[in-house]
Amino acid sequence: MSFDALNLPAPLLRALADLGFESPTPVQAEVIPAVAEGKDVVVSAKTGSGKTAAFLLPVLSAILARPDPNCGARALVLVPTRELALQIQSMFEQLARFTPVKSACVIGGEAFKHQVASLRRNPECLIATPGRLVEHLEKNSTDLNDLEFLVLDEADRMLDMGFAEELYAIMQRCRSEKQSLLFSATFNHRGFSRVRSGLRDPLHLEIDHFRQINESIEHLKMLADDETHKLALTEALVLGMEDEAKAFVFCNTRLQAQQVSNRLRAKGVRSEYLHGEIAQSDRKQVLARFRDGKIRALIATDVAARGMDVEGTDLVVNFNVPFKGEDYVHRTGRTGRAGVQGRAVTLVDANEWNRAAGIERYLNFRMGVQALEGLEAQYKGPKKLKKSGKAASKTKRKKHASAAKGRKATKPSVARSGSSVESKSKGKGQQYRPLKPRRD
Ligand code: AMP
Repeated sequence: MSFDALNLPAPLLRALADLGFESPTPVQAEVIPAVAEGKDVVVSAKTGSGKTAAFLLPVLSAILARPDPNCGARALVLVPTRELALQIQSMFEQLARFTPVKSACVIGGEAFKHQVASLRRNPECLIATPGRLVEHLEKNSTDLNDLEFLVLDEADRMLDMGFAEELYAIMQRCRSEKQSLLFSATFNHRGFSRVRSGLRDPLHLEIDHFRQINESIEHLKMLADDETHKLALTEALVLGMEDEAKAFVFCNTRLQAQQVSNRLRAKGVRSEYLHGEIAQSDRKQVLARFRDGKIRALIATDVAARGMDVEGTDLVVNFNVPFKGEDYVHRTGRTGRAGVQGRAVTLVDANEWNRAAGIERYLNFRMGVQALEGLEAQYKGPKKLKKSGKAASKTKRKKHASAAKGRKATKPSVARSGSSVESKSKGKGQQYRPLKPRRD
């Protein structure tokens, strides 16, 4: 299918051609016609699937079809984080560059009065984080009386991050005739029914199940003994990248992010770290330097890196195993974007084995196990595994010795340099999709 078949106006087709987008991604092919028909949609699509253009294109198309320069904001895109807002605005600017349609980014961490000034210019589209938008609505620097489209992107994350009240308050201020587009990885959050009740008979589009692992990414785990060993592994992985390649390293704590960045810098790698406490202007600069290739490794916590899309990111290192399957998907989704091959390496120490196994089970896949020559871990994984892939605990084994009898457990093997081996155990009733291990 080509974009021509989606009845998009000429200025948008021209922008798509300039971007080099030849054909719609599956989420775009489904969402664009549904929105053009006036439907509300609830969409679950995996990260990197092209969902930003899937909502921006039909919204821009509708605005262009009925120009109304005197109108207030006609579309609102609400997102959980500042970085995601900036990224969406950047895509907006690229798609709308041959049109007169304007946008404003309304996010925390930036001067309120500058935002008031840009809102006075009457942009058709607002891209906002909930907290800051509520402040503007309360101070009457904008209103949602003319709103035609409400897009909630990463709605599950907004609820997770505690924005439920702001979300409901914003929804209440919107015109009831608006069209709503809800994008979310999961729909089992407690606050969802209230969010969904604001939608009119929505069409459910499950493009890629959120648990679907991106197959353009090679998923590997490396066993590690402790943080010192993890620092050495991270350094070796980053130094082993090709010349122009970039890496994202994810840490669970800010302190670790700083430590990893310091270590890489000490070894001559241009690296910087990002976390939620860093001022917005500094975050923007760091991201710009990463995009321009001035930084090769960006070390980040989950919140700071949510939604970031940086071309040329070949490698994602999980310095720690993330706490949730969704975070694993989002972290690793920084690579392997738009069909390009990427590699995600998760460093797993003895305390994290079970968490990694839980993520594999939840996402229904297995990471290949790999080691680096000279940096093999002393830790070889649990001696015995449960069917779930988690370590069989000694006390439980004693207690349930008879029940455990006959249960097959597999010891994972750690490959020597240059090769990799996959754990063969499978959870009950689970169909693990083997992922090809990399041979360097
Ligand atoms: P998103 O899921 O919106 O963050 O998009 C992921 C990546 O896919 C971004 O780098 C987009 O620029 C790219 N992209 C989006 N739509 C297309 C398309 N139709 N063809 C090629 N690349 C695309």
